[in-house]
Amino acid sequence: MAEQQSTTDLGFDPNTLREKYREERDKRLRADGNEQYFEVKGDFSHYVDDPYIESRIDRQPLTDHVDVIVVGGGFGGLLTGARLTEAGVGSIRIIEKGGDFGGTWYWNRYPGAACDVESYVYLPLCEELGFVPKEKYTHAPEILAHSRAIGEKFNLYEHACFQTEVEGMQWSEADQHWTVRTNRGDAMTANFVCMANGPLNRPKLPGIEGIDSYKGHTFHTSRWDYAYTGGGPDGGLTKLADRRVGVIGTGATAIQCVPHLARGAKELYVFQRTPSSVDVRANRPTDPEWSASLEPGWQQARMDNFNTLVSGGFADEDLVNDGWTEIIRNLASMVNFRGQTLSPAEVAEKMELADFQKMEQIRSRAEELVNDPNTAESLKPYYRQFCKRPCFNDEYLPAFNQPNVHLIDTQGRGIDKLTAKGIVANGEEVELDCIIFATGFEVGTDYTRRSGYDLIGRDGLSLKEKWADGMKTLHGLQTRGFPNCFIVQSGQSGFTVSFPHAMNEQAKHIAYILGECAKAKAKVVEVTAEGEQAWVEEIIRMSRFSESYQSACTPGYYNNEGKPSQRSKQNGSYGAGPTKFFRLIKAWREEGSMQGLEIR
Ligand code: NDP
Repeated sequence: MAEQQSTTDLGFDPNTLREKYREERDKRLRADGNEQYFEVKGDFSHYVDDPYIESRIDRQPLTDHVDVIVVGGGFGGLLTGARLTEAGVGSIRIIEKGGDFGGTWYWNRYPGAACDVESYVYLPLCEELGFVPKEKYTHAPEILAHSRAIGEKFNLYEHACFQTEVEGMQWSEADQHWTVRTNRGDAMTANFVCMANGPLNRPKLPGIEGIDSYKGHTFHTSRWDYAYTGGGPDGGLTKLADRRVGVIGTGATAIQCVPHLARGAKELYVFQRTPSSVDVRANRPTDPEWSASLEPGWQQARMDNFNTLVSGGFADEDLVNDGWTEIIRNLASMVNFRGQTLSPAEVAEKMELADFQKMEQIRSRAEELVNDPNTAESLKPYYRQFCKRPCFNDEYLPAFNQPNVHLIDTQGRGIDKLTAKGIVANGEEVELDCIIFATGFEVGTDYTRRSGYDLIGRDGLSLKEKWADGMKTLHGLQTRGFPNCFIVQSGQSGFTVSFPHAMNEQAKHIAYILGECAKAKAKVVEVTAEGEQAWVEEIIRMSRFSESYQSACTPGYYNNEGKPSQRSKQNGSYGAGPTKFFRLIKAWREEGSMQGLEIR
């Protein structure tokens, strides 16, 4: 056990680290939690305007009928559309706020944006499209182009409505269909609706003093203003050559765009509240010989291999072999003392020790790559690795060696305020020509708030009301009182670090259910009260949510900004892990009786 190994063997003292983690967390805990951010609307709505559309689509309101309406044109919506098309479902309409398909990859075009899960695993439907990404971690433009290619391949452009936001949906029991209303005055109807709004779709801004008083240029990373910065997703931000630029935030987005800003800006100020853990990326071009050698079935096999390894399982080989699989391999190896019977407390202690070791390695990487010892110290994360999304990048830390790049370490407090001229942090004003908010997206708020609309189901029940005390679903996909409605998301479903993998499984499941309804000539499918209750109980029983782990974490969206929600067990994903969840829903389909659903 940890304490039995000497601190000399380990190179650190677990008790000292535990204390340091506590101190760093305590510096960041704040009473307002999620309320420190505000919803971007009204006077701030220009922050969410679409900078990528060439012209606004003008069209008459639609009042037509389609078989299925899918909300969201990201990978969730595209996968649903693709699997339903394969299953022979007739007309499918995707409604999307942006000007094209792509979802998160439509919006996040900031310089350096790339997938952080290996692209051969992350990008869905590669085999269906005969496509192999050009890099191991491919960049955003290729992912956006792939999204469009999926739309083309599965004919999803035909009925799509872009630049359109859903404002509400209502079920009609008499007509047995949904009416979907939008900001374009549409009142279209569909037999089925699928919501694939995405988990991180609403940019958030910190509610700091003076946020509306800054007179310089400003934007959020998910609406990158290339007209102002020059260049493109590959960098070359030439218009910043005489500009002083400030970035607020050091999460996964900032880690990717800071190196480009460092190269482009005259002066770059990075305002840090909490450092990210930044491990080796080692990106590389795809080997053409390898891609030519791929056999049919290669992508699903690779996805399954990755998913098994990152959810703590065992596989004969590690096909992806990167930072993600290494993290979990290390954690798993600590608890895999075959033949030993360890108590849960001993397992927890071993996991903690493996985590300390990994994070010591991350911290020493900052020391190795950053010349100035004070800056290096500021860039060291002191928390357990899964308190925040682990990051992988080879250019972020060295960027701080450039003389024009300044890390403003706010020691966990965040910036003090904005003024007309710039940002005040640690009591000092930094004058800036441009402020970029890399402050992330809403996570801990209600599902219907994040979706931007509510649903009215059978008997006038709203989804907001139905889930007021926590989610209630069968398999995370359907909820009683909302017939013919499917929700593509991770709560009460299988969660994996490669989101599209889970969404693909959900899409296949929806296609199966619709196929069964068609076979039975049923017009309506709904969860039974018993089916829903049993699944909610199963989710709570299987939950691996650990209040003590989450409370010990530095605040962030993983732990509801330092206030682990009482509903985390109920709203969390299936505790036995994604592999078991995917098997469970496959077995459910194979059993064939649609247990927990009623059709009429
Ligand atoms: P995050 O929520 O991860 O980061 C927001 C940042 O803003 C944090 O560093 C936060 O600090 C900081 N911040 C917030 N308020 C203040 C303040 N008042 N003063 C100073 N700093 C402040 O958002 P990201 O956009 O970086 O990432 C969101 C998620 O998107 C990721 O976790 C990941 O899941 C996904 N993503 C995926 C990528 C991929 O490669 N697939 C790439 C980029 C993002 P603090 O930590 O202290 O709260």
